Amino acid sequence: MKITVIGTGYVGLVSGVCYAELGNEVVCVDKDAGKIEMLLEGKIPIYEPGLKELADKNRSEGRLAFTTVLDEAVRGSDIVILAVGTPPMPSGEANLTYINQAALEIADAMNGYKIIAIKSTVPVGTNERVAELIRSRTSEPFDSISLPEFLREGSAVKDTLYPDRIVIGADNEKAADAMVQLHRPLTDQIIVTDIRSAEMIKYASNAFLATKISFINEIANICEKVGADVTKVAEGMGYDKRIGASFLKAGIGYGGSCFPKDTRALIQIAGNVDYEFKLLRSVVEVNQDQRMNVIRKLETIFGGELRGKTIGIWGLAFKPNTDDVRDTPALEIMQYLADNGVKVKAYDPIALDNFKAYYGKEGVVWCDKALDVAQDADALCLLTEWDEFAEADLNLLQSVMKQAILIDGRNVFKEEDLLGTDFIYYSVGRPSLN
Ligand code: NAD
Repeated sequence: MKITVIGTGYVGLVSGVCYAELGNEVVCVDKDAGKIEMLLEGKIPIYEPGLKELADKNRSEGRLAFTTVLDEAVRGSDIVILAVGTPPMPSGEANLTYINQAALEIADAMNGYKIIAIKSTVPVGTNERVAELIRSRTSEPFDSISLPEFLREGSAVKDTLYPDRIVIGADNEKAADAMVQLHRPLTDQIIVTDIRSAEMIKYASNAFLATKISFINEIANICEKVGADVTKVAEGMGYDKRIGASFLKAGIGYGGSCFPKDTRALIQIAGNVDYEFKLLRSVVEVNQDQRMNVIRKLETIFGGELRGKTIGIWGLAFKPNTDDVRDTPALEIMQYLADNGVKVKAYDPIALDNFKAYYGKEGVVWCDKALDVAQDADALCLLTEWDEFAEADLNLLQSVMKQAILIDGRNVFKEEDLLGTDFIYYSVGRPSLN
C-alpha cells in the first residue's frame, strides 16, 4: 500500500518506519523543515532505541521517504495517516489546531479516493468533525478511520511491530477491511469498532493506566506511615490475574506527553457532556501531589530548611529510554528547589539538552557525568530509573558527596544494594534506611 504519514514525531516517525518495514511504500511528511533535513541526512531527531537501524534499512531499500511537501505525498497515496501533535490547552482540552490544519491541507491535495486515518489522540467526535471539514473543501471521495496509537516511548519500535492490539474505528466496511489488511501482519488482535468507540478506547486506556499508577502511589504513601513495603504489596497484588502486575510501580508519579494531557482531556470530554469524572480528577490530583514526595522527604531530612543546600538530580526525562521531557516530574521538582534557594546540579544520560531548553531558568549546574552531580552534594535525588543509575558504584558515590543522602524517587535500589554504605536512604512506600 502507498501511505503518507503526516507528522514525524514520536508516533509518526516510528509508525512510518514500521509501515515501511511491513513492505509498504511510505512517505513521512513534516512541516518542520529542520526535522526533515535531519532525516534526509540519515539522522533521527528523537531518541528511540532501534529506530535508526530500521529507518536506514527501509530507506536504502526504497520504501521510505521524507518530505515537507504534503500535497505531493498525499496525491501519491492510498492511505493518509495523521500523527500530528494534540497538545493540551490551558483548560486541559486537546488543541486540535494541528489536526485541522493538516486536514485542510489534505483536502486541498485530494485527487481520488483515499482512506484518511487519525492516529493522533483526539477527543470523541473529532474524526467526524474532521471528515466534515475535508468534505467542505473537496468533493473527492474518502473514508475516515480512527486509528488510535498505544506505543510507549522508549520501546516504540517494539510496541509498533508487536502490539497488544490494533484498534480500528470505521463507519465503512471496505475501508475497515483495508486497514485490517494493513495491520494483519502485526497481530491477530484487531478490534474493529465504530469511530467514537475507537476514539474513547484510547482515552479510557490511558486514564485506566494513570489510575493504576495513582492508586499504587496512594498505597505507597500509606505504606510509609504504617511501616509496610509497597513493592511487596504490589507483588502480592499483581499475581492476581484480575489485577495484573504492570503499572503497580510506586514512585513520583507519571509524566510525559500522554498521561497528563489525556487524563485532563478526558475530564474535559466528560465535562462537555455534563459528566463530572470524579475518579479521574482525583487521579490527576494524586499524581500532582506525588511529585512533591521527593521535596517532602528532603524537608524532613533537613528540618524544613533547604536554602543553601546543594542537591543533585539524577534523571530528567519523564521515564528511561527516551529524550522526551514534556511534563516530566523533574521540572516542578527542580523549579521548587531553585525557587527555595537550593543549588541544583542535574544530569540525564540522554535528555539533558532537551531539558535545558524546556527548563528555561538560569542557575542550574548541568553535568555531563552522573558522578559530577553528586560531587559535594548534600543529597542526591533519583527521578528517572535509567539503568546507568541502578548500576552506580554507591561507595564511590558516597565518597564524593558532602552528605550521603539518597532519595530514590523510583525505588531503583534494594536494601542489599545499600549494605556496606552509610547512605541515609529514602524511597517511595518503603521503609527508610539510615
Ligand atoms: P510530536 O510533537 O512528537 O510530533 C508531532 C509532529 O507533527 C511534529 O514534528 C510537528 O512538526 C508535526 N506537524 C504538526 N502539524 C503538521 C502539519 N500540518 N503537517 C506536517 N507536520 C505537522 O507528537 P507525538 O508525541 O508523536 O504525538 C502525536 C500524537 O500521537 C498526539 O496526539 C499524541 O497524543 C499521540 N500519541 C503519542 C504517543 C507518545 O508516546 N508520544 C503515544 C500514543 C499516542
